[in-house]
Amino acid sequence: MRLLVVEDDPDLNRQLVTALSDAGYAVDAASDGEEGHFLGDSEPYDAIVLDLGLPKMDGISVLERWRKNGKMMPVLILTARDRWSDKVQGFDAGADDYVAKPFHMEEVLARIRALLRRSAGHATNELICGPVTLDTRSSRVSVNGNPVRLTSHEYRLLAYLMHHNGRVVSRTELVEHLYDQDFDRDSNTIEVFVGRLRKKLGIDVIQTVRGLGYMLSPPADAR
Ligand code: CA
Repeated sequence: MRLLVVEDDPDLNRQLVTALSDAGYAVDAASDGEEGHFLGDSEPYDAIVLDLGLPKMDGISVLERWRKNGKMMPVLILTARDRWSDKVQGFDAGADDYVAKPFHMEEVLARIRALLRRSAGHATNELICGPVTLDTRSSRVSVNGNPVRLTSHEYRLLAYLMHHNGRVVSRTELVEHLYDQDFDRDSNTIEVFVGRLRKKLGIDVIQTVRGLGYMLSPPADAR
């Protein structure tokens, strides 16, 4: 899953990017409204953390423009503690949730998890495909109850497929949602990661759909 953080306070921006990266997401960052608007408009983010008080273009205008342009990604706004009107304006502009500053990072992480699972149509943090279980809270993966250790890229790949279980995910889509914008993107590396992931999981849950991409499907005897 790939996220965007739009926050002009450099310390807070860094803290958010670090916490979200540590939680297993690919993260891009912008420090003003114009850059944030541009990135959110041109890149396919799975969710966005948007501060409202921003230089160059305020957060409400950024959000309104995304929505006007048909951008549907979940947006979590950061509001000032005592400004109830910020929250009302934010929701009316198309925000999905908010966190009031100062906040605990755990709350931001939990709200992002909730937004991601809701937008993908899941009700809980535990995603299951046959014998494979992925817990988005702990970033843990197990097969038949046995923990499997994955690298952050392997985890991201599996998490994306698990969130979108039931449909074919193309290689291009994976590249766009697994790497941040500074990453040297190459869709051939996806094949390498899929190969490693299959080996680590030890069972055949990732099907290659020729010419289209990949799809999760539990082994026949586990269906
Ligand atoms: Ca600000």
